[in-house]
Amino acid sequence: MSFISLGLSGFFQRALDEQGYETPTAIQAQAIPAVISGRDLLAAAETGSGKTAAYVLPLLEILQSQDAPASNRAAVLVLVPTRELALQVETSIKSYSRYMPRRITSLAVYGGVSINTQMQALRGGCDLVIATPGRLLDLVEKNAVKLNQVRHLILDEADRMLDLGFAEELQKVLGLLPLQRQNLLFSATFPEEVDALIDKLLFNPVTIEIERKNKLPESLIQRAIEVDTEQRTSLLRYLLSQHSGDQFLVFVASKRAANNVAIKLNKAGFNADTLHGDMSQIDRNGALQSFKARQTQVLIATDLAARGIDIPLLPFVVNYDLPRSPADYIHRIGRTARAGEAGTAFSFIDHGSDAHFELIVKRNQLTIDREQIPGFERNSTPPPEALQPTKGPQPIKGKRKSKKDKLREAAERQKAAEEGNIWLAATRKNQG
Ligand code: AMP
Repeated sequence: MSFISLGLSGFFQRALDEQGYETPTAIQAQAIPAVISGRDLLAAAETGSGKTAAYVLPLLEILQSQDAPASNRAAVLVLVPTRELALQVETSIKSYSRYMPRRITSLAVYGGVSINTQMQALRGGCDLVIATPGRLLDLVEKNAVKLNQVRHLILDEADRMLDLGFAEELQKVLGLLPLQRQNLLFSATFPEEVDALIDKLLFNPVTIEIERKNKLPESLIQRAIEVDTEQRTSLLRYLLSQHSGDQFLVFVASKRAANNVAIKLNKAGFNADTLHGDMSQIDRNGALQSFKARQTQVLIATDLAARGIDIPLLPFVVNYDLPRSPADYIHRIGRTARAGEAGTAFSFIDHGSDAHFELIVKRNQLTIDREQIPGFERNSTPPPEALQPTKGPQPIKGKRKSKKDKLREAAERQKAAEEGNIWLAATRKNQG
């Protein structure tokens, strides 16, 4: 099966060749003809399935025969949960549309950076706007963009968007769109909130279910390594030196841990960088870009990097700290072994995370044998602090949050949400 046989014009072929796409993925094979035909679409698809091209390519095909949008208008609106995903989708659009006869304009808009540049870029109109909801509403308020000519709406990672508390903003955006439009909804999971959205949004959709929820690629090897808490950095160094030319994405529980581990690795001569929510947007983009360009060997990240981000040919993921939620375990390890490549996900299990790891395994219906690596064997008796049942940030003993603290945190959350700093908004909420 070829892309052209799905209804795409010949001018896409060169761009697809350059991307190394030989045949459409399963979701592309089903979605491309459906989207070109104008139908609404409901797709159960994980990142890694090729879902971006599954909607971007047919939309570009449609745009090719349409006029460019009027000033401050957009024809296609892609809503995404994070800035990183917005940028990634925009990059895909630019590469797929490179050889189209008609010039296509696209713009990623997200909070945490100056709004003025985005306002200017929208002035002449834009074929595709890829936006996080908060910043989009700010732009609407400033009259920088009007949504009354949007003909195609895409919700990418709808579950994640609702998880992050975007329900209200989403409703506001939907209220600004014309009734006549095509709606495409992509979601990895289908909690009740997403079901409600589907009912409201989609008209007689073509439904595509490519992968069972949480299905992991067969080429992904999961290894659970028992290790003492204080030996984890040495073990990480050992793994890095065992695979010296390869890149590692290492997940930790906090921004502080990210910085600490990065400092230790750099001291030991490894090229390590961090990615977390305390960094400026410019630094975050820079860290991700250098990692993608293979200029950095190790990226130490918080869960900010767990979802949606596509790092081609990433062979190793390490859970230095386990994720809090079993679902995040799947999202984290899914950064490796993408598009049929081999990949290994290591999880470090210290005494304090024994029970939590069992929970992750059970909830995700996994079978993972535990192992120890010679030279890094775990002590047979757990230290007293490891006998506490849960890990992760805990309220300081004897110090309950005062009402004032709670109010201050709520205000910070609100501010972060207004700035479009959704990740911060979400983590503060989880911790509060
Ligand atoms: P996505 O699910 O959109 O994040 O895509 C996951 C990865 O698969 C990205 O690196 C894409 O460039 C890649 N990809 C998408 N479609 C194809 C294809 N037809 N053949 C090979 N790789 C693809």
